[in-house]
Amino acid sequence: MPYWTAFIFLIMQIHDQQFEIFITEKQIQQRILELARQINHDYEDKKPLFLAILNGSFMFTADVFRELTIDAEISFLKLKSYRNLESSGKIRELIGLEHNIFNRNIIIIEDIVDTGRTLHHILSEFQELEPKSVEILTLLYKPLANKVPVSLRYVGFEIPNDFIVGYGLDYDGSGRNLKDIYKIVNS
Ligand code: 5GP
Ligand code: MG
Repeated sequence: MPYWTAFIFLIMQIHDQQFEIFITEKQIQQRILELARQINHDYEDKKPLFLAILNGSFMFTADVFRELTIDAEISFLKLKSYRNLESSGKIRELIGLEHNIFNRNIIIIEDIVDTGRTLHHILSEFQELEPKSVEILTLLYKPLANKVPVSLRYVGFEIPNDFIVGYGLDYDGSGRNLKDIYKIVNS
């Protein structure tokens, strides 16, 4: 028996939770074409540098990036969390930024914007590096969960405040390989 089991194709068991289909592969791919078309238009001759935030955005990033027809570069970043014993707070460090982003047109790629804290943190780190522009491309956005306002230029889907898996997003490490997006079944 695999770690997940499909019941009537639409309900998925992952670990201790049930998930139901929410956004299909077809809907995702259709939306990606629209987003890519918009970016191709907005960034013609601007040679944007895409910075994808791992892990959750890897699948979305690959699918959007291959629909771009403009000259563009890409690199991958990760937020590493660790505890700071002195302040007892949680420190989050952005790792993997090898490009000089000074005077570059940056597009950050996220899987999902929830409270907005992750993005806020990333944006504040970028500020002092003086990029020419910074815009956000996110597959999913939960407006009702938003605590820190961030300006989102390209949003795939606005969704309710429910836990999501699939298409790169995980539940406790599993579910990233699903082609569709699933929503937790609230019992
Ligand atoms: P924020 O800092 O905006 O609250 O959180 C963003 C991060 O939280 C995302 O990049 C993602 O890793 C995680 N996250 C938020 N909501 C969900 C969700 O519904 N499902 C999954 N798998 N991760 C989520
Ligand atoms: Mg993420």
